[in-house]
Amino acid sequence: MTDEFKTLRKFDAGKGREAFLHSLPALEEQGIGKISRLPVSIRIVLESVLRNCDGKKVRRKDVEALAKWNAKSPANEEIPFVVARIVLQDFTGVPLIVDLAAMRSAVQRLGRDPNIIEPLVPVDLVVDHSVQVDFFGSPRALELNLDMEFKRNRERYQFLKWGQQAFKTFQLIPPGIGIVHQVNLEYLAKGVLSQMSEVGSQRSEIFFPDTLVGTDSHTTMINGLGVVGWGVGGIEAEAGMLGQPVYFLTPEVVGVHLTGQLREGVTATDLVLHITQLLRAQKVVGKFVDFYGEGAASLPVPDRATIGNMSPEYGATMGFFPVDDESVNYLRATGRTEEQCVAFENYFRAQKLFGMPRKGEIDYSVDIDLDLADVQPSVAGPKRPQDRINLPELGSKFRELLEKPVHDGGYGKKQIDLREKHVVELNGSAPRNGAMFSTDTKEHQGIKPGEARNVLEMVANRPTPDAAKEIEAESSNVFARGRAHIGHGSVLIAAITSCTNTSNPSVMIAAGLLAKKAVERGLHVEPGVKTSLAPGSRVVSDYLEKTGLQTYLDQLGFNLVGYGCTTCIGNSGPLHPNIEKTIHEYDLVAASVLSGNRNFEARVHQHIKANFLMSPPLVVAFALAGRVHIDLSRDPLGKDKDGKETFLRDLWPSLSEIRTAMQSALTPETFRKYYRDFAGQNPKWNEIPSSTGDIYQWDEKSDYIHDPPFFENFSMEPGHIAEIRSARALGIFGDTVTTDHISPAGAIKESSSAGRYLMSRGIQPRDFNSYGSRRGNDLVMTRGTFANVRIKNLMVPGTEGGVTKYFAPTGTGGSKNGEGEETCIFDAAMKYAETKTPLVILAGHEYGTGSSRDWAAKGTRLLGVKAVIAASFERIHRSNLVGMGVLPLQFLEGTSAQSLGLDGSEKFSITGLSDSIKPGQQVTLEIEKTNGEKREFPVKLRIDTPIEIDYYRHGGILPFVLRQLLTKQ
Ligand code: SF4
Repeated sequence: MTDEFKTLRKFDAGKGREAFLHSLPALEEQGIGKISRLPVSIRIVLESVLRNCDGKKVRRKDVEALAKWNAKSPANEEIPFVVARIVLQDFTGVPLIVDLAAMRSAVQRLGRDPNIIEPLVPVDLVVDHSVQVDFFGSPRALELNLDMEFKRNRERYQFLKWGQQAFKTFQLIPPGIGIVHQVNLEYLAKGVLSQMSEVGSQRSEIFFPDTLVGTDSHTTMINGLGVVGWGVGGIEAEAGMLGQPVYFLTPEVVGVHLTGQLREGVTATDLVLHITQLLRAQKVVGKFVDFYGEGAASLPVPDRATIGNMSPEYGATMGFFPVDDESVNYLRATGRTEEQCVAFENYFRAQKLFGMPRKGEIDYSVDIDLDLADVQPSVAGPKRPQDRINLPELGSKFRELLEKPVHDGGYGKKQIDLREKHVVELNGSAPRNGAMFSTDTKEHQGIKPGEARNVLEMVANRPTPDAAKEIEAESSNVFARGRAHIGHGSVLIAAITSCTNTSNPSVMIAAGLLAKKAVERGLHVEPGVKTSLAPGSRVVSDYLEKTGLQTYLDQLGFNLVGYGCTTCIGNSGPLHPNIEKTIHEYDLVAASVLSGNRNFEARVHQHIKANFLMSPPLVVAFALAGRVHIDLSRDPLGKDKDGKETFLRDLWPSLSEIRTAMQSALTPETFRKYYRDFAGQNPKWNEIPSSTGDIYQWDEKSDYIHDPPFFENFSMEPGHIAEIRSARALGIFGDTVTTDHISPAGAIKESSSAGRYLMSRGIQPRDFNSYGSRRGNDLVMTRGTFANVRIKNLMVPGTEGGVTKYFAPTGTGGSKNGEGEETCIFDAAMKYAETKTPLVILAGHEYGTGSSRDWAAKGTRLLGVKAVIAASFERIHRSNLVGMGVLPLQFLEGTSAQSLGLDGSEKFSITGLSDSIKPGQQVTLEIEKTNGEKREFPVKLRIDTPIEIDYYRHGGILPFVLRQLLTKQ
């Protein structure tokens, strides 16, 4: 244990338990900086820098620079942040374990000890992203969805089980337990951690704050508990696991001073949507946000966690709440041991970090005030989470957007009569993708629309024979029955989903209470609305059962469908085929309502264009209303059993009703009961066979797990940084191209490159599974890169999807008159690879916004893209590009692909690149038109830190780390 600044101090970790900490007050006493006025989030990072200061990985000057953090002008320095642990979800976690397995194989090929590849900090992986809503509206939905999940993901789960035994510091939480951030909040987070170390001549216990990074952008949910952490790309997480600090530029910290109280009828979801809109407008991208003041102190931890969760949506690196009594109360209430709770409180008190700061106590870069009483019930959408709409205005806003031109963000419909509905017969099912199955429609005749809601949906990408049989066996309650009447604005998906909200008992109980009142009045949900409830932990089901509310949710179709991400990540499963057909035929702008945090186009469902985020009780209310073009403050939701109009206000539960239900239902014992012996509680997991050993035996027959080519021809010497010459454009994109666009996570279309590849491997469309589930296979993922059905490549105007133009080398006669040949992006990239032609991507603002997706960068690299030139980048994606050895470059203000009149027929060269490049310097973009005319423009190198130069020179983080580990050995 190093103690460079002699700050180790004793403290009482509880009941006389003598322990040590690296004291920030002791550092301040040395006169290095006014540490007690630093934002709490910065002080927690400073503790890590101080504790890990060894003169090499973390230098004295790193500690001094951060201790002197200047609120108004933070140093332009990178901070080496060594985190205490790492959390992963399975979509991003599988490729990460695949990379570790590939590194072990590479080390073995070099004749060295593969066990040098081992996570050096604890890693928890929660399998939560693989469950899909195939079945819903049935008491058997959970069981059947879990069955499907295990059938589809068997190979991945076998691999993960291998990883569990191969790596010592790797804990796996199997499927069916919960959602990573909720599990982190309710169970994994400890508040403080400790380890034994030498202090003088003795081994002593050293305490330090719980800090982490996760491979999921909503890792920030844990900020609600006072834990510093955020989402990073899989590539950075991997480096963190291998003992590298996570590097980030010294941030500004925005202080949000909360005052007042939320009004009756206003939920934590309304608050987070308000904050998202407020902070988006304040441009907090790349900054920390610290909430403080008496309003912050009054919020319980679940509300704080909801606010922390959506920091990627408002753009901040974190949305942090300092530790106070509420934080300790939450640890106690969720069944953490008394020893842990006391150590947590004592540690933060000893560091003078305990308690919610008040106005004037801390220096923030920017100070913003928000009175909680100003927050209104609202929703956000239809395409972006920051587009908040006051609840009464949703109907008029939707009508406005329907007619607004597409280029202004609308849907470009003309003279729409919103009363016009198309009748969709839901009896039985049309055959799809060659899978024939039907039900006896006569059997269902006479059932009135909405009478029976025990709907089982058919299987995504068509049923496997087994699943088809199961569905047939369930035919008395299979498929929505009766008739749906759908038109523009019809709600077709209503999902209580996402850890953002399901971790918050107040909004979940509010949804249950609203359902109870609706059922008691005889209201029902129309057929055609796909209803689902997917909480982030089994604790939710426990309290919904205990309060007797689940039964009412069931009666409205909100049966439990799984414990996982489902609709939040786009795993909403298919709609009834006749509904999909009608949407397609009439080009309907249908709607989803969900308690999630993302609503980019095609994320929730490929056929649903308008997606609104809202609280769980509002999801139930809109399911009842069946449409979004409604003013719920004035218009009735429906008629009760006596034919009387019923309004939202008639159903909305009061705060005291919610509190009473919560008090009777939530106990620490409940949390302890569900957070133990995960494998024992999950027999399906135990049945999965697994291989053993240090090295993974790659199976060429597997289409889920494949040895990636990142270490092919690996040598100990990195290459030199060289100029990029005569590159071709693979795509030219507009603003806000998301990682969903670049690396889609939804279903794999039969006609896509990935679909055709899987078919060529003998895999039928019904077994395609999603892209996310095949992230362990580079051969599928590279084909899926830029293949999103909604991506618009401006090189091929008027088209959507992964198409581009291929320009054959001059003299080969491939493209006539320099016009290029229209083809899919993957095929073009492979043709360019044959002639070793480097590729570039050109894009507008906020390139790579959305969830962190390592495959958005890995796929870009494997397609042969050498540089991405954009007007601006999302933080994680930019660093992931560097992490994969792809050069991010930024147009200077006022320049863009459009302003330069580029159409993709040009050749691009990037000059001024060499081993001596500096972060943020300008280099030259040279553009050669087809007529030979050349122009030059300066562009900014978006390699932001010195260490990133090293990463780029080594061809990415993975080869960099591997060379370091092999050199040390
Ligand atoms: S529920 Fe949504 S926000 Fe939460 S981990 Fe899953 S995908 Fe991310």
